[in-house]
Amino acid sequence: MKFLCALCVLCELVAPALALDREAFTFTKYDLEIRLEPDQQRLGARGKVTLRNDSAQPQKIAVLQISSSLHWRSIKMSGKAVQYISQPYFSDIDHTGALSEAIVTLPAEIKAQDSVELEIGYEGTILLDTTRLTQIGVPEALAKHVSWDQISSSFTAVRGAGYVAWYPIATESADFSEGNSMFQVADRWRAREAESGFRATLSLPGEGGKGPPTMLCGDNLGGSAEYGRPWSAFTDCDYKRLGTVTPTFVVAKYLDQSKPPLHLFSLQGHEADSASYSNALEPASKFVSEWFGQRSSAIAIADLADSNASPFESGTLLLTSMAREDSKLAEINLVHELVHAAFTSPRPWIYEGLAHFAEAVYREQKQDGRAAALEFLNLHRTTFVEAEKDVATAPQKNPGQPLATTFDESYYRSKAAYVWWMLRDTIGEDALKLAIHNYRATDDKNPKYAEQLVAAAAKRDLGWFFDDWVYHDRGLPDFRVLAAHPWNGEKGRQIVTVTIENLGSAGAEVPFTIRFAGGEITRRIEVRAKSTATSRVEVPGAAAEVVVNDGSVPESDLTNNVLKITESPEPGLQK
Ligand SMILES: [Zn+2]
Repeated sequence: MKFLCALCVLCELVAPALALDREAFTFTKYDLEIRLEPDQQRLGARGKVTLRNDSAQPQKIAVLQISSSLHWRSIKMSGKAVQYISQPYFSDIDHTGALSEAIVTLPAEIKAQDSVELEIGYEGTILLDTTRLTQIGVPEALAKHVSWDQISSSFTAVRGAGYVAWYPIATESADFSEGNSMFQVADRWRAREAESGFRATLSLPGEGGKGPPTMLCGDNLGGSAEYGRPWSAFTDCDYKRLGTVTPTFVVAKYLDQSKPPLHLFSLQGHEADSASYSNALEPASKFVSEWFGQRSSAIAIADLADSNASPFESGTLLLTSMAREDSKLAEINLVHELVHAAFTSPRPWIYEGLAHFAEAVYREQKQDGRAAALEFLNLHRTTFVEAEKDVATAPQKNPGQPLATTFDESYYRSKAAYVWWMLRDTIGEDALKLAIHNYRATDDKNPKYAEQLVAAAAKRDLGWFFDDWVYHDRGLPDFRVLAAHPWNGEKGRQIVTVTIENLGSAGAEVPFTIRFAGGEITRRIEVRAKSTATSRVEVPGAAAEVVVNDGSVPESDLTNNVLKITESPEPGLQK
């Protein structure tokens, strides 16, 4: 009985928490002042956040979450303290695997679509923390190269929502061990915040005449000023619209190798890789301006202290280790960032997809050819192919994500890179360049705008392609060579009729190759979803096999793409 009563009390305590709608409010504006103390691995924050009630009901409770290593100090509204309870909340959206949550009781209900401004203060430490990875079994040694965020006196780099909640967020719990839960929560947050404004001023206390380290936030460079104490360094993160940006700051004793518009920062001993970036600036800029026009903003590429750290990109800032001494990688990294400097779009699949596509084209045209470019794209394919299998086989379980609206990185980066590559192969380079040159971010109000530009430049209706790849997620194609019949032609030549079947639900134009003694011939064929298409090809020899798809179209099953021709040729083909 005692136990039951205790349970009842517990139920009452838990019940209001269960009713909490943690994602009711969208943070539409941040205005923060952050003081960093690298020696103590600390930050202190104060400022204002504006929350808009995006739920259908009036809300009296607002939830604000920061990393579990940070602590709430004050929450006020119009200068008056508001009531709040602070509690830990387990969620893998933060590197510590938990958040410090403030459950704020607002003085009055906020109606749907109304906003409230809160003045907030919080502080604490940000240490390297691999908890959320090690607790699902990732070895510590590996986890620290992925989860590298920390404030420290030797090197500070901290990424925002999805890595470290160094500014407040409001999300349902994310669990790394439950399939895609973690990514779904993080993507949902990103989508809700895409139109929000973010400003944070970061500053460092003086360092007694040693000269300040470099501070970066986005591509904004830190400055330094004398504020009574010998030195104080500062920088501003300022985004009118967050889009896909994750606010991130870096503080380090960098060697400044900048060549405007490229802000380039390397650590001591990494001069070779940083020279690769410098040397590639001219050819990469020329290549990018041919495709995307003249650059209009700066970019920043900065070194990471851990030479095995996984790279990270946010907007026009790339953080990547320069200990690798891989000049080809440096070139394509630079191409990617230069695309962002020249071309912008409010749509993630266009903004990031084109930048990854440009890397592949550079790989093909300025480095090692088409096969190397397709190998590069294939690394992207592995990031979304599993998710797409679910879409095809169990659409109820995984309804998929239309590229046009997704905030899932594996889609808007990797799948989008393929979509642009397929478009280029289908309509040709000149037509795609023309469509890109005619694109204006400010005119992109309608999801069909990009399709209209592409169709006008190609003088071809591509509605079916955009339907299958951009406006809906229909999974991937699955091609196979259904039949290949050789016929004897004149002077030892053969005519081969090839039938390609697409077992998948997304159509594409795909290359197929006929191999014969002494060579091969490649042609392209459009095969719509769940359909077949046939083509006749003349080859100067005896056809031996047909292979569909050179890897330029992402498909779900690559094991059924070859058909050996074993039958003898028929006497002659009637035209
Ligand atoms: Zn990018």
